[in-house]
Amino acid sequence: MSSGAGPRKRVFVVGGGIVGLSCALYAQRNGHDVIVADPRGFAKGASYGNAGVIANSECIPVATPGVLRQVPRMLLAADSPLTIRWAYAARIAPCAALLARAMPGHRELAADAGCDQLIKEVGWLKVFQTDAAYRQAQSGFDSMRAHGVDCEYLDRRALAQREPGLAAIFAHGILHKDCAQIEDPGRYVEALGALFLRRGGQFVQSEVEALERSDGRIDCARTGTERYQADCFVVAAGAWSKKLAADAGAKVPLDTERGYHVVMETGEPQALRQPVYWAEKSVVMSPSSQRLRVTSSVEFAGLQAAPDYRKLKAIVPAIRAAVAAEPGKVVGEWLGFRPSMPDSLPVISRAPRAANCVLAFGHGHIGLTTGPATGAIVAALIDGAPPQMDISAFSVERFG
Ligand SMILES: Cc1cc2nc3c(=O)[nH]c(=O)nc-3n(C[C@H](O)[C@H](O)[C@H](O)COP(=O)(O)OP(=O)(O)OC[C@H]3O[C@@H](n4cnc5c(N)ncnc54)[C@H](O)[C@@H]3O)c2cc1C
Repeated sequence: MSSGAGPRKRVFVVGGGIVGLSCALYAQRNGHDVIVADPRGFAKGASYGNAGVIANSECIPVATPGVLRQVPRMLLAADSPLTIRWAYAARIAPCAALLARAMPGHRELAADAGCDQLIKEVGWLKVFQTDAAYRQAQSGFDSMRAHGVDCEYLDRRALAQREPGLAAIFAHGILHKDCAQIEDPGRYVEALGALFLRRGGQFVQSEVEALERSDGRIDCARTGTERYQADCFVVAAGAWSKKLAADAGAKVPLDTERGYHVVMETGEPQALRQPVYWAEKSVVMSPSSQRLRVTSSVEFAGLQAAPDYRKLKAIVPAIRAAVAAEPGKVVGEWLGFRPSMPDSLPVISRAPRAANCVLAFGHGHIGLTTGPATGAIVAALIDGAPPQMDISAFSVERFG
């Protein structure tokens, strides 16, 4: 017997990002034998290069009317990080109930993995240069407050006290005190991968080409060279999950919101005290020792188009002017693929036409935050136990 609700099982997880590894670790905790497959290793997808914010504040969809009103102006601005095709608009949504479970999940996994020092409980600051930009965002903060999110308003003076690392060009700030920063998300997720291996997990460095299904069950996961049989399969392949979900009989409108980062050198040991979202530029500036990682907003161009760093790089001079330490050389750049659903809710669901398959993808802008909470739910589904919260909104059947 497992220590969870069901008998010991062999579980096969597709995807070695934050979501796949969280599913794997919670399944192991319940006593199961777990295999994770990923052709690129652990933490090489979106989980590697994101902004590292445990953004448990983000219970309001990014594509609120306030954001959408700004889109035409952002598209016209030469240094705007936003590139959008209209058919793709309005695609993000957070899930308040998952967010409430974010910090406890991270604390639990990080303590087991011995990487809790990477979680910095420093809050998350959003800053605005203009009254207009702040006014535009205000209704969102009102809604957040209505959902119990701590949104402390900071005027120019309070902002300077809270974040002396910013130049004095910002008029308004909102501090989410309860948020946190994972200083190096790639290292953090790799540490979770190392814990998975220490607990006896098996890693297969291969792409799963297909999940083979018959009689309402997945028989095996097929790679280029092997067929892996298991009692239960989990599809957690991030933005690449669509085809595997189809193998499991679920048609999902999964898309990707691409996002970039650049890493800039800073003279200061740490240029900012916490991650800072700069509203007018739609960038997050995430500090670490001698480095500033600047992540962009959204580009809609699918999984295949070549990266185009021009828009984010055009913002670099503005970053130098906004950060007192005047970050210098760009020493790294990266393109990542957020897995995004049109209604902005992730899919955390049994596959209706494959009784032994669980789907866990589509976490959009908050997948780093909500990965561990997702893993705990998936582990319950594997055991046939009731999940810790109502997950009907995440059902894949909402797409018919
Ligand atoms: C610029 C940017 C900034 C972000 N900032 C934040 C933030 O501050 N906070 C936050 O919470 N979230 C943030 N996110 C979102 C977050 O990074 C993602 O939601 C999250 O990483 C998704 O995790 P995942 O495990 O589902 O996907 P991934 O990390 O992409 O992992 C999926 C894995 O599946 C593997 N895979 C794909 N196909 C197959 C296959 N056929 N067989 C085997 N393996 C396969 C891939 O190689 C990949 O490693 C950001 C994203 C971006 C792009």
